[in-house]
Amino acid sequence: MTSNNTQTKLEKIVALSKRRGFIYPGSEIYGGLAGTWDYGPLGVELKNNIKREFWKSMVYNRQDVVGLDAAILMNPKVWEASGHVAAFTDPLVECKICNERFRADHKEELTEHETSHKGKKVDWTEPKKFNLLVEAKLGVVEDAKQKVYLRGEITQGVHVNFKNVLSSTRQQIPFGIAQIGKAFRNEITPGNFTFRSREFEQMELQYYVKPEEAEKLYKYWKEERMKWYMSLGMTKEKLRFRQHEENERAHYAKDAWDIEYDSPFGWKEFEGIHNRGDWDLSQHQKHSGQDLTYFDQQEDKKYLPYIIETSGGVDRATLFFLIDAYAEDGDRVVLKLNPKLAPYKAAVFPLLANKPDLVAKAKEVYENLKSTIQNPISWDDRGNIGKRYLSQDEIGTPVCITIDFQTLQDDTVTIRDRDTTKQNRVKIKDVSSQIEEKLN
Ligand code: ATP
Repeated sequence: MTSNNTQTKLEKIVALSKRRGFIYPGSEIYGGLAGTWDYGPLGVELKNNIKREFWKSMVYNRQDVVGLDAAILMNPKVWEASGHVAAFTDPLVECKICNERFRADHKEELTEHETSHKGKKVDWTEPKKFNLLVEAKLGVVEDAKQKVYLRGEITQGVHVNFKNVLSSTRQQIPFGIAQIGKAFRNEITPGNFTFRSREFEQMELQYYVKPEEAEKLYKYWKEERMKWYMSLGMTKEKLRFRQHEENERAHYAKDAWDIEYDSPFGWKEFEGIHNRGDWDLSQHQKHSGQDLTYFDQQEDKKYLPYIIETSGGVDRATLFFLIDAYAEDGDRVVLKLNPKLAPYKAAVFPLLANKPDLVAKAKEVYENLKSTIQNPISWDDRGNIGKRYLSQDEIGTPVCITIDFQTLQDDTVTIRDRDTTKQNRVKIKDVSSQIEEKLN
């Protein structure tokens, strides 16, 4: 595809997101707030489904991982210990013509900006380090207010609870702690829709391992995470690993690989897999004065475990699932989302809205499905059936169920499949199992 075409695809997704209630610009009626986004009725379902699948695969399906939900606000010493106060920086340059600020390492954005000055020579300031931590003030007395940080990554909330989790569960190394939650970064240039936001969500695993097993388990988690995205339908050819160059690695990382997606704005990271070594625990041990070593009973020795981290962005994953699922098929737009991720699992229609018998029967099917499937089911009785199908295709509903006159005779309905558009007649009693099959 040409860049013009691909740009159009992103614009279409932005428009669809707004029109159908996936994603709206944050605080829009006040002119917005750069880098913030609000998830609408369908967006919250899609995002929750992604988080639920993550939690299932990480926590419910495994014995060696437990969950955690740490506070966003933490003692500021945490961020000094973790190195974020000193080193969580991006290189910032300023255009000397218009004073607009950019990231010095985002060369494409710099070139684009230079061309926007139409032939004028653009000089840039020397790069300076810009800290991404967002500051806030806590307390009621003006003078005594304490400076705190909105967490720049959800990771540290896990590491400061390493000992708590060890002593309150029966976990032994190797084991992991999964967490999903908001993070905040003062990004110099938010953009590409939700891709670079100032408030976003992360879904992470911090996996504590014996130092000598770190490399092996690092490899294992890299593969696991890639498989997870593919299992939820992301196109294999649009995914790749990229290893960080030495000078690109975060201050804590011994090794770092990104999972990237071939997006309309280039190959972009949406999950990082890092070998953090014993950086976090040794720093917190030093700064807190608490013993954070692990006693390994089998080996009869104490050590600081290494940490393998998988750190994915929920918003970036949501965006890439949307982009990956978006297809134009003749006159219809289809979101070919994996049914597990689709906001509605099915839609139910009475063939005609002005026939009380049909409507009553359709309502019965609708209510039954809602209680058996335990997931959102859509109801639509507006316009004609063709339009209702198109409307559901556009939001990714896997099947549409129509109650017609034959239903009143023999208790059968038509099920129409989103991807093939084929319709089948099935017994009402078999409808929920057909939907459940798609969800397994
Ligand atoms: P980038 O290089 O794009 O700034 P990063 O390497 O700083 O990202 P990490 O610190 O590894 O990102 O964070 C892990 C994940 O959190 C990223 O892979 C991404 O999915 C998500 N993430 C990070 N920053 C943002 C952001 N500003 N907006 C949305 N998601 C983000």
